[in-house]
Parts: sequence; structure tokens; C-alpha cells
Amino acid sequence: MKYEAVIGLEVHAQMLTETKVFCGCSTKFGSGPNTQTCEICIGMPGVLPVLNKKALEYAIRTGLATNCTISSYSRFARKNYFYPDLPKGYQISQYEHPICEHGFIEVVVDGENRRIGITRIHMEEDAGKNIHEGGGNYSFVDLNRAGVPLMEIVSEPDIRSPKEASEYMKKLRAILRYLGVCDGNMEEGSLRCDANVSVRPLGQKEFGTRAEVKNINSFRFVEKAVEYEIKRQIKVIDEGGKIVQETRLWDSARGITESMRSKEEAHDYRYFPEPDLVPIIAERKWIDEIRVGLPELPDVKKKRFVSGYGIPEYDADLLTTEKTVADWFEDAVKSGGQAKSVSNWIMGDLMRFLNEENKSLEECPLRPAQLAEMLKLVDKGTISGKIAKTVFEEMYRTGKDAGDIVKEKGLVQISDESAIEKAVDEAIAGHPQEVERFRAGDEKLLGFFVGQVMKATKGKANPKMLNELLKKKLG
Ligand SMILES: [Zn+2]
Repeated sequence: MKYEAVIGLEVHAQMLTETKVFCGCSTKFGSGPNTQTCEICIGMPGVLPVLNKKALEYAIRTGLATNCTISSYSRFARKNYFYPDLPKGYQISQYEHPICEHGFIEVVVDGENRRIGITRIHMEEDAGKNIHEGGGNYSFVDLNRAGVPLMEIVSEPDIRSPKEASEYMKKLRAILRYLGVCDGNMEEGSLRCDANVSVRPLGQKEFGTRAEVKNINSFRFVEKAVEYEIKRQIKVIDEGGKIVQETRLWDSARGITESMRSKEEAHDYRYFPEPDLVPIIAERKWIDEIRVGLPELPDVKKKRFVSGYGIPEYDADLLTTEKTVADWFEDAVKSGGQAKSVSNWIMGDLMRFLNEENKSLEECPLRPAQLAEMLKLVDKGTISGKIAKTVFEEMYRTGKDAGDIVKEKGLVQISDESAIEKAVDEAIAGHPQEVERFRAGDEKLLGFFVGQVMKATKGKANPKMLNELLKKKLG
């Protein structure tokens, strides 16, 4: 029997507001336990929450960027459950009237365009954090996170493969970061994801019973957790068993999902309208203002890069994942760099250096105009492509200009034919056996001679002249 997977993702994104969603406490990450709390976010009786307008604006921004309809009437609801990190005994969330609905985003998987529907985006507050360490018969509760504004972005069950799930997650993260509404930092938990996974025989319309996989905090784990869950469910069905609706926990260390508890239904939470907060009626005028203020988003930018700069789609895709990288690319091109060369240097050495040091582009001293200047030196023949790699690394490390580095280190390319000829003659005279073998047909040895001359000229010989001279003299 052939099966098809049906996957929906629920993504929790922490909004980048300075203060919490219903009080004035700071949302800064990494402060001492319980130092960013007040009567409202620790749930004292009699206090009244007030909505942070910035959080509402960010949710609307996200809805507009993901093709959602912004609700003209929206309101908060209480989601009731007991847990030690939730001192009120309920979480303020949205239930019947979310702020955004009926959107979609597009992802490219194996060259194919796929549209993934977004059911809804709603606002809610985060809970605190239980810390089980110290070894005693006790746990700690840190409420700094209680009341931090979250968006829950719920997709339609449109996703069909683990790869599609991670591509959806990547695209969503890119959009949130372009919008400046979430930093997308998955390690710190500002972006996390639960996956609803089920399988059904290929061609069947009805969905199979689904399991919800919680605790996924990287793109790699989205793919792995979903893949594991699909295989597990198919195995259960093939062996004559039944899938139970449940919540499972992704264990990244062991690469498996494990049953955590039977899945709650919505009625388990006894949702009811939050009586302490008024309904939200966002004015059209304000929504239009937010729409006008949206930045150019990754998909549009990608198309513009392909048509405007003539770079391949693959390049445009990589360059537009982060807005800072896209801006850097455009600045370098505007400073006179040829688009494809600039793209190659960014995707090659620049990204490699940054990844090796786990740095962001903002942290490196190299400026876009400096790359453009170096490319001009290559075009003019002042330095060779090989030397350019040395110059680029020095620029990356020190922020010095290419021209200065070339002068300081004496890296100007040798394009004087007699100087190269002298080195070629010496290489030929010094290796008679290799010359014989080359002339007998072992053409791979050409590379050996190129290497010898480059060594003698410290890599500065003009490669084109060198190749021509070698062929002439050896042939
Ligand atoms: Zn507070």
C-alpha cells in the first residue's frame, strides 16, 4: 500500500516588542529569574491587562505579508488549564475571533512551486518556565517569559513531505525577519513549531488520525521529526494497528518521537471570551497604513534579483533569505561590482567565513563597496583570481581596502611576458623526466608545471599568459 502524508504546522513566534503583551514589563532575554515581572503577568487577583498596541500591529503586519484577511472584529479568549508555570490558571489567547485568517505563503520544493494555506494567525501570551535542576525534590519557576507576546501561525494541512515542512518553516522565518516582528532565533525559542502529522492511503480523501509532535526547534528537526513520525505511523498501520490521537514529544538526541499524553480537544480548555479585555476593532485606515509600510518581501525581491540583475534563481533564492544579505549584495552591485561575481563571492567565501565563525554579516568589517573595488582589480588584470582569494580573506579579517592590501603585500599580478617566460624555462629545465612524460602524452602534467611556476612566482603569474607559454614551450 502506498501512503501520503498530511502535515500541518503550528508555529509560535515571539514578537519583538520591548514590553510584554498586557503589561509594561521588559521582554529582554537572559535576565535573572523573575526580575521582569509585575502583578499583571504573575496573575495577581484584581489586576487588569491592557493590550500592547505594538503587538497588535505586528500581528497585522504578519497577516498582511502572508496574504491573510485582517478581521474587522477580533477578541481574546481564556484558555483554561493548570500548570505551575501559569499562575493565573489560564492563558489569554484568541479562539473564535483570531486577528488574521485565510492566508497563504509559497515555497519552492525540488523546483516546484507549492502554495501552503494559512488558516489563522492569533495573538497570545507566553507562559513561564519550569526549571528542573539542582537535584532536590523541587523545581523552580521563572516567570520572566509569562506575558511575552506570541503569534501562533497555523497552517492548513497542505504540507505533503518533510522537506516541504522545513521549506515552509524557512520561508515563514524569512518573512518574519524581513518584517522585523520576530528575530527568528530558534535556539532561544523565539520561533518554535508543533507539527500535526497523519498518513492516509494514496488517493483517499479523508484524513487519517493525526498525532501532534511538540518541541521542534530547528529546520533540521522539523524535517527529521516529521519524517520519523510518518514512518512510525505507516509501520503501525501496516502491522494492523491503529493510530491514536495524541501529543508526542520530539526527542532530538535520540531522533524519535515519544507519546507524551492523549491529545486534548478544544473543549478540554473551556475557552470563553476574556472579560477583562475589550474586543479589537482595527480601523481600515490604520491597517492600510501598516500595509503601505511593509518592506519588499523575499519572493518579490527574489524575482526582481533574477530579472533585474540577471542572476540565476538559485543565487537569488540564497541572497534573499536574509534582508541584510540582499541589501549587501545590492550595495556591492551599485558600487560597480558585476552581479554574478558579487553573488559568487557572497555565496562562496563570505558565507563560509561567517559560518565558520558563527558570525552575522553585520559583525564583519568588510563593506560592499570594498568587494566591488577588488573585483575591478581582477577585471583590470592587476590581481589574478587566485590572488583575489587571499586579498578577500584579508579584507574580511581586517576591513582594509583591496588596493592597500595588494600594495602592502606586493600581490600585483606578473603580466610581464619575459618574467613569466623565465620562470617557465626554469621549470622545464628543472624537470626533464616530467617533460618527457608530458610529451609522451601524459597531459595531466600540465597542472604540475603550472604549479611549479606559480610556486616560483608566489602565485602572481598571470594564469592566462602562463598557460599559453607552457603549451607553446612543452608542445
Ligand atoms: Zn508584568
